[in-house]
Amino acid sequence: MRYSRIPDETIRRLPIYLRGLILASEQGQKNISSNDLAEYVGIYPWQIRKDFSYFGDFGTRGVGYNVGKLEREIKRILKINISQKAALVGVGNLGMAILAFPGFGIYGLDIAAAFDINPKKIGRNVKGVTIENISKLGTIKRRKIKLAVMAVPRKAAQETADELVKAGVRGILNFSPCYLLVPNTVKVITIDIAMDMASLPYYMPAS
Ligand code: NAD
Repeated sequence: MRYSRIPDETIRRLPIYLRGLILASEQGQKNISSNDLAEYVGIYPWQIRKDFSYFGDFGTRGVGYNVGKLEREIKRILKINISQKAALVGVGNLGMAILAFPGFGIYGLDIAAAFDINPKKIGRNVKGVTIENISKLGTIKRRKIKLAVMAVPRKAAQETADELVKAGVRGILNFSPCYLLVPNTVKVITIDIAMDMASLPYYMPAS
């Protein structure tokens, strides 16, 4: 089910709430108020209550939200209640770190395949994933992989995105510092660390 009337900002906050709920759960909390959750996530309690109100009423007055139930509900909304397999393209400095990063699992994401163009890297096993030749990218279709993480140099980015689209991918997390042209059946999220960093000096309090 798609919740079409939910603002994008709310959807973008859901993984933040999920991370807070997972932390609260690890600390043995069964129920949590919006005030308590606000302390875990750094978002105003009124904003949390407003965001959750889009999905129905999860809370009980005086008791708060049931942590496990809310965690399950958010995962269901984000469609990560069932494990999603992803392919990594480009296993260089950044790709290697992504492949070795254990933190995707809690969000139900599993980097199940990795591809590179460099013959020296092909065949290497990193954390249980064998790096495959980029020429085999088309195989992800029958392996039911619909998500991809791209960590290739900028000049290879558009071509890689085109190949991923051809292979049936529907979501791309792009680390290359460029805009990608894809059909509107595919969602791209670009993470440009340098670009984010570039706005930081503007916001720095004057000393
Ligand atoms: P890198 O040169 O170490 O790795 C790039 C990898 O992509 C190599 O293994 C290369 O063989 C592979 N590759 C090249 N063309 C390919 C193709 N057509 N198909 C498949 N694989 C291909 O670079 P990096 O530092 O890992 O950076 C990767 C991307 O991420 C770059 O666009 C970079 O700007 C961006 N980025 C890197 C960092 C970082 O900290 N390293 C941070 C932010 C963004």
